[in-house]
Amino acid sequence: MNIYEKSEKVMQLFQSLEDEITVLKKETGIHCIADCVYCCTTSKIAATPLEFYPLAIHLYKTGLAEEVLKIVSEPENSKTCPVLRTVSQDEKRIGCTQYEYRGMICRLFAFNYNINKYGEKKIAACPPIKLAQPEEVSKTNEILKSKPIGLSANGYYSQLQSIDFVEGQQLYPIGEAIKMAIEKVLTHHYYTDSEK
Ligand code: SF4
Ligand code: SF4
Repeated sequence: MNIYEKSEKVMQLFQSLEDEITVLKKETGIHCIADCVYCCTTSKIAATPLEFYPLAIHLYKTGLAEEVLKIVSEPENSKTCPVLRTVSQDEKRIGCTQYEYRGMICRLFAFNYNINKYGEKKIAACPPIKLAQPEEVSKTNEILKSKPIGLSANGYYSQLQSIDFVEGQQLYPIGEAIKMAIEKVLTHHYYTDSEK
């Protein structure tokens, strides 16, 4: 599979993931907090380059790939996300500038559940949601006693690995993962365009 074919499969995976998030939000009321960028700025966030192929291709098609690559190549930026707007500009709010093409970790962050040592499923909500929406979190955990709701992070990472086993499990700081994805797209075009 070339990078475009893999990207297509990643986007299909994202669609099924988004469908599950929609059900979770509808049944529990859990939702992201406006203007929150906690998950985009935490230094612990790690991702695979594979989940950013759709973003890298979109940046390439919109002429932004080189610009984003330059930002993320600065040593001080390698651990932060290069497509995050951190200050309001031209009436645009802070947040993700490439929301449609954000990675899998960005989608999983607040909406996945895990299983504790007693075998109980618990929503792994982010700290801002735990703080602001305790009733919704409790409601979700009640529902989880009888059926899965939300996302199984392990399940989605397994599906990512089914697209490419190696590329689906190599985790890097998010800036590094995006950089690698962009470089893959540029390399792909370097060879395919020169063959024309
Ligand atoms: S997932 Fe949580 S941390 Fe991330 S933007 Fe939403 S509320 Fe904020
Ligand atoms: S891709 Fe978007 S949602 Fe994901 S970390 Fe970057 S700014 Fe945040």
